[in-house]
Amino acid sequence: MGFEKFGRRSFTGITKTAKFVDLLAEGKIDGTVCKKCGAKFFPPRADCAVCLSKEMDWFDMPPKGKLETFTTAMYAPFGFEADPPYSMGVVDFGKGPKLFARLAKDVKVEDIKVGMEVSVRPLKYEDGQISFEITKA
Ligand SMILES: [Zn+2]
Repeated sequence: MGFEKFGRRSFTGITKTAKFVDLLAEGKIDGTVCKKCGAKFFPPRADCAVCLSKEMDWFDMPPKGKLETFTTAMYAPFGFEADPPYSMGVVDFGKGPKLFARLAKDVKVEDIKVGMEVSVRPLKYEDGQISFEITKA
């Protein structure tokens, strides 16, 4: 099992970070942390980009942060044609890796503000696929 259950269009079937999808199904949004140097990564990496160690562990991403930036897509790539308009943003948790994701559909574009408190939650689509999304804290 790889990333088959992740996202709306998955192009990565096999990966060493497939546990990310299992954790997501349990309601956890996890990154990886290097056991050797402590560098943290999100999306999770199987190998440390700092010291090249393969000894990685999992850690829970913080539940809340601030919206650092966002954009609203009026057009979408292949496979997502029915989705626009939708917004995507970057969450800054104060320390550690930032997170990029879509904002939840129930967050109105006019209510999105840079610096607003947000949280990140798992998302299950009607077809059983899973992902995660940013929502108001
Ligand atoms: Zn490292």
